[in-house]
Amino acid sequence: MTRDNLVFHTNFYFPRRHRLVEELLTKRSEIEATLGLTPSDELIHVFLFQDQDKFRRFVQQRHPSFPDRRAFFLQSSTTLLVYAHWNSRVAEDLRHEVTHAYVHSVIPNVPLWLDEGIAEYFERPSADRGLHRNHLEHLVSEHESGRWQPDLERLESLQQAGEMSQLDYAESWLWVHFLIQHNDRTQGLLQSYLQQSQYDQLNKDLELWPLLDQHDANMLNKLVDHMQSLASPYKLTSVQTAE
Ligand SMILES: [Zn+2]
Repeated sequence: MTRDNLVFHTNFYFPRRHRLVEELLTKRSEIEATLGLTPSDELIHVFLFQDQDKFRRFVQQRHPSFPDRRAFFLQSSTTLLVYAHWNSRVAEDLRHEVTHAYVHSVIPNVPLWLDEGIAEYFERPSADRGLHRNHLEHLVSEHESGRWQPDLERLESLQQAGEMSQLDYAESWLWVHFLIQHNDRTQGLLQSYLQQSQYDQLNKDLELWPLLDQHDANMLNKLVDHMQSLASPYKLTSVQTAE
């Protein structure tokens, strides 16, 4: 079954107009508009398994070195592939992995931290506007206890997915959320960085932090303020409940 540039391969009956598929198609325009990406017509193959056993067996046979995960995105020089299986979090899994595929169809060498930050942002249902409460709570508590300070330079130095901790995923999400939603200028900085990465595919050392720092020496404080302002409505709610 093909819809737009998504080609679905399933081992069970899957309706052509399933709302999950409709949501993924809407996501694509949302991602392209938010990040200022030029649409690509490259096909994305989505392999969706009905149950976990068949999914695991398939992954172990084809990619024995892969860690045990619920879903994957893979890019070869010729193909974009997503593997997932039906489970209670399949919608989130597909939004996350298909976001990787959409971004890679335009920018094959997108930096690791940004790739994950963007996927964590867009894995949320559109109504949440990218808000990832688990990441937010994690960052706020690590920051309050003095165990974490934002450091984009460090995130940009990470090269392997295995090097990224849960907190690194959370910080990557926060940078993306901040850049998209803080104001038009920060969103514009992210968009022009992505465009540069798209047209300058060979320059793997192109980094975002020097551009942000040059633009505004107070960027780190603004990021922390952004995090705290996102967290404050939840604090108010918990205080009210306690009363
Ligand atoms: Zn990912």
